[in-house]
Amino acid sequence: MNPTYKNVEYTSFTGWIDPPTDLAPPLQGAQECDVAVVGGGMGGMATALRLAERGVDVVLLESEFCGYGASSRNGGQIASAPGGDLRMLRVLSPKKLPGMVRFADNAADYVERLMKDHKVECDYEANGMVWAAVSPIQMFRVKTLAAILRKLGVDGQVGTAKEIGIPEAFVGGMRERRGGMLNPGKLSRGVRRALLDSSARVFEKSRVTNVQRQGGKVVMTTSGGELIANKVVLSTNAYSGEWDIIPKHLSTPAWIIEVETEPIAPERIAALGWTSRSGVVTQHQIMENYRLTPRNSVVFGVRRLESGASYPLLPRNPDPGMMRELAETFYTRFPSLSDVPIARCWGGWISFSSSWTTVAGRVGDNVYYSASCNGHGLAQAPYLGSLIADSIVDGKRSVDLESVWEEKASYPPSPVINPFGLRAVWLFDRVSDLLNGSRRRARRAAASAS
Ligand SMILES: Cc1cc2nc3c(=O)[nH]c(=O)nc-3n(C[C@H](O)[C@H](O)[C@H](O)COP(=O)(O)OP(=O)(O)OC[C@H]3O[C@@H](n4cnc5c(N)ncnc54)[C@H](O)[C@@H]3O)c2cc1C
Repeated sequence: MNPTYKNVEYTSFTGWIDPPTDLAPPLQGAQECDVAVVGGGMGGMATALRLAERGVDVVLLESEFCGYGASSRNGGQIASAPGGDLRMLRVLSPKKLPGMVRFADNAADYVERLMKDHKVECDYEANGMVWAAVSPIQMFRVKTLAAILRKLGVDGQVGTAKEIGIPEAFVGGMRERRGGMLNPGKLSRGVRRALLDSSARVFEKSRVTNVQRQGGKVVMTTSGGELIANKVVLSTNAYSGEWDIIPKHLSTPAWIIEVETEPIAPERIAALGWTSRSGVVTQHQIMENYRLTPRNSVVFGVRRLESGASYPLLPRNPDPGMMRELAETFYTRFPSLSDVPIARCWGGWISFSSSWTTVAGRVGDNVYYSASCNGHGLAQAPYLGSLIADSIVDGKRSVDLESVWEEKASYPPSPVINPFGLRAVWLFDRVSDLLNGSRRRARRAAASAS
């Protein structure tokens, strides 16, 4: 075994923080409220917090503890553009695209305000996430995507790796104008604290096993009790397919992982030329992400999505094979760090929609749902939650909520997020990597011969 993998800690939660020890009590007996929120990720917490701020009698039900899901496990990169391929979205959803771009840009702004308003200390560095190219072809894609964004009024800084201060492992990229990186565990923990301190009633260890509409009300059942509400917001993200009430194929879950190295000597990090410290995501069909942390480690992830899960989504430890594949790619992209040991690895369930867009909607007049931020939900899920909360209080939808709102109650299955589709996309990326590697070697050979 490669010695750098000898002491990897595989965790079924996250590498960013420890689970909380002050759990709120579970739901017991029959209780009532005006609005219920199911799911205590960043989406559900922001929904409940906003409802409480606006004076609504709100209850949040969470199956484990607030921040248990993707919200504490992600790469911590606050993106300010939509997830998915903008070229594809321009063809498939031309009318929606301008609104989606504005929504994503405003989401980054919202999360910055959320941290400030609730004094959440989460190591935020507002250094704009970079769409990084590992090859000239990827750089061409970056420029095309940057042009699409520019036309829609969102400028990014396009340049070589040196110009935008990212490692020379990359040809260049585009830095988004807003957002940056943070410790997502600390963010979730801080927002959980704000929620527990608010007027919202929070029940943790309260997994909802059924949601039903009954005589104008909504009834949620847990193993310990029953909650009856006038309205409910279902904010369970990748877990959203658990109940019949949710439109079929709203969200397809996939499992992805993140890996963290041991701390690296500051002079070795300085030698990488990562002067901006910005987090980067590559332009593969399934991206690789890389970022520095305040503890001088590098966190990197994704590259492979695993689908085919059935509900309920169970806790899971990362697969060492997936970890090795990511680590080997990291060592190839950063050869000067190929002796740095891997410290830990964790994973989480992420949600995809068939249209590759963020979605919100309503069943009847009292069951609201949101899902599928397609890997960009760290800012978008809470922003969306706050907009749904406002729409419940105001009785109307804001322009940004309208831009992701779906009136229809059925969604087609995802053409890509299935074992066959994902394998095909993974292979496509690997062939591009191989071609890129041989082109690079040929260029080097030609240069040394001349
Ligand atoms: C490894 C990883 C890396 C990522 N990297 C990034 C990134 O860098 N940037 C970015 O923007 N996004 C990233 N994402 C995506 C982002 O984390 C999510 O889009 C976002 O956190 C979704 O928030 P949420 O509140 O909708 O869902 P979650 O955080 O998943 O919350 C859903 C909650 O619902 C609860 N729940 C589920 N079922 C029930 C039930 N039956 N009853 C009660 N409660 C229930 C769960 O326990 C969970 O706490 C990443 C995701 C993962 C997994």
